[in-house]
Amino acid sequence: MSNYHNNEFLGFGTCAPSNFIPDWFYSFLFFPPIKSDKGMPTAAPYGLRKIEAQLLKEDFNVVTVNPDKLGEFSSKARIIGVYTMDPFGIGPASSTLAAILKKEPFLAQHFRGLLNSSAMQKAKANGAKIVVGGPGAWQFRYRPNFAKRHGIDCVVEGEGETIIGNLFRAILNDERVPTHVEVNLGDAPVLSEIPDIVNPSINGLVEIGRGCCRGCEFCNVTLRPLRWHPYEKVIREMDVNVAGGIRGCCLHAEDVMLYGSKNTLPEGAKLIKLHELIMKKTQSISWSHCSLAAVASNPKLLAEISEIIRSHQRWWGAEVGIETGSPEIAGKIMPAKAHPFKAEEWPEVVRSGMGLMHDNMLIPACTLIVGLPQEHEEDVIKTMDLVDDLKGCRSLIVPLFFVPLGRLKDEDWFKRAEMTKLHKQLLFQCAEHDFYWLDSLIDLAFMGKWYVRFLKEFYKVFAGVAKRKTRQME
Ligand code: SF4
Repeated sequence: MSNYHNNEFLGFGTCAPSNFIPDWFYSFLFFPPIKSDKGMPTAAPYGLRKIEAQLLKEDFNVVTVNPDKLGEFSSKARIIGVYTMDPFGIGPASSTLAAILKKEPFLAQHFRGLLNSSAMQKAKANGAKIVVGGPGAWQFRYRPNFAKRHGIDCVVEGEGETIIGNLFRAILNDERVPTHVEVNLGDAPVLSEIPDIVNPSINGLVEIGRGCCRGCEFCNVTLRPLRWHPYEKVIREMDVNVAGGIRGCCLHAEDVMLYGSKNTLPEGAKLIKLHELIMKKTQSISWSHCSLAAVASNPKLLAEISEIIRSHQRWWGAEVGIETGSPEIAGKIMPAKAHPFKAEEWPEVVRSGMGLMHDNMLIPACTLIVGLPQEHEEDVIKTMDLVDDLKGCRSLIVPLFFVPLGRLKDEDWFKRAEMTKLHKQLLFQCAEHDFYWLDSLIDLAFMGKWYVRFLKEFYKVFAGVAKRKTRQME
């Protein structure tokens, strides 16, 4: 549980395994433990805050605690809920790094460390039940014996608001509960069933909507219904964060550009109003995700939003999916990703969207998927050509091994052994792109923050060593 020095991008550091710098120093650089007050974290992951809010609404006696301080609370706990993003380090980013460096990612080490901690063991001995949820709960399907071996009583997969109260009541009444609960689509909460958070979220993250209408085959999110929160709710949650001393705000949706839209065309007036309201309350803003197609479909709107945001700050960031440079692959597995453009126009949509982001100081952390089903050599070459065309765009491009999710969940995992010479070239090409931009991105990310002026130099040294090592490998 960390706020990654107030910088979401640094959170990706948790996906790496132990490396050439000592673990303690690496964790200090990328995921220092969150501060706590009387054992309670000053901020917690947004999803955990939602579950906390839902349980409070249903009159449970619930407290969110810092994992390091669990021992101060666990003797009284009857249920310990654990939120996890990537419990076994097999999410796309961590499995790629683990395959390349051949070691277990920090995320997985810390998850197991928490379960094996003396505080958790004592709580179990006292009869407490352990329930695990969060966006990484799907991974338990690939580790069928882990939950039993580590004393986990129930894993909850999916949006939990409508089921968590009944589940916890059943556990408290000593009823038998399933070991794995999957919240089906019919149980996904409607807007009025989603409570406001009542305590601050990490880095001021606030959800503006859930679900996505683009239907990419490799994605879990697309199976969920699309819902947008009204302005008032977003602002109420921001107020909770501001009252808790969080000065920044990260807007979360699968595509922030489409706020309030029922299709793939941005609703300009709604997006502008949202940003005008937010900028009155926050010192800085970032977006969790946005799509290149929505940006490319309305360049004027991006320029207007950029003007609003840049009246307060020089740049902002978002995670962006490129996935492939092959129009054929785009047509097969993500036919609506380019919408309102055609799937065969995908590479052009990417070039146009990335150029617009560069001009408007929106800095994307982009993902590519390596080893997609049905991918041929010529598809990888097209992706390499596209990455080449993006050289001049201020960005990070991160290649990720294919992980079977969404409608492709029955496909095989892509493994290091299946990497062709071209795949390796693509990986090095992305690393070179990132190293080219990294120094200036570090300068921008830590601009004006006196306390990280010295820390910044460590990141640069780390990037320099990583660059040398990557070139040696190459
Ligand atoms: S656009 Fe993104 S969130 Fe939407 S379905 Fe595709 S990968 Fe998933």
